[in-house]
Amino acid sequence: MSFAATLLTLYPEMFPGPLGLSLAGRALERGDWSLDTVQIRNFAQDKHRTVDDTPAGGGAGMVLKVDVLAAAIDHAREKRPDCPVLAMTPRGRPITQARIRALAEGPGVTILCGRFEGFDERIFESRDVEEVSVGDIVLSGGEPAALMILDACIRLLPGVMGAASSGVDESFEGGFLEYPQYTRPVEWEGRRIPEVLRSGDHAKIAAWRKTRAQDDTRLRRPDLWERHGGVRDLSASGAQQDSEE
Ligand code: SAH
Repeated sequence: MSFAATLLTLYPEMFPGPLGLSLAGRALERGDWSLDTVQIRNFAQDKHRTVDDTPAGGGAGMVLKVDVLAAAIDHAREKRPDCPVLAMTPRGRPITQARIRALAEGPGVTILCGRFEGFDERIFESRDVEEVSVGDIVLSGGEPAALMILDACIRLLPGVMGAASSGVDESFEGGFLEYPQYTRPVEWEGRRIPEVLRSGDHAKIAAWRKTRAQDDTRLRRPDLWERHGGVRDLSASGAQQDSEE
């Protein structure tokens, strides 16, 4: 069963784009995931194929028309009724690794990419669409956001990543950032790989990694630390005898 990605976009040529290469590209060739693009403009209702109009109330830019969006969404949903529809918008709920994992475990995803000033709000009132943001930045279009989300899903599909385990230990998976990584040479510009990583003592290595993951999360991402009740986690891990000592 292949993961079905459907993109609703004014720029179908942007796909698969970078997802045609490397891990995701090989997975696409193998059929681990499939790609379908839907040109939003094909659902324009007039002979000029208009997809946007000026914002009600005035202001800069153009807004994607609700009738066009609804027709495009309805078309995609008819073809893939089992797939959730995500709309890319900075006003949406910030995407998380947990949501990515849930999507990757499902049948696929349909992603609506905005352009210009974005969507007529009534699309969200009238259709079951999940508004998703990829961070507190403003892109010129939803396509790069969709590529991000797809990339994150595809690498989790069965058989896509080399080592089956390499998804579990990573940043965000346990509520923490990943510990820092090193590789040879052992010494470079006078800097050495931490001795513990060369000790061969697996318990010590695991303890060091856990401590660094926790410390780095607390210092770099106090928001993540708070959200996962970092202090409580630290004492819980102490009880399991694998804390920082
Ligand atoms: N006027 C809007 C921004 C529109 S940017 C606002 O201020 O909220 C144009 C399109 O790019 C959006 O419709 C959306 O599809 C996409 N986009 C921009 N930033 C994004 C983000 N952080 N996350 C997801 N999509 C984004």
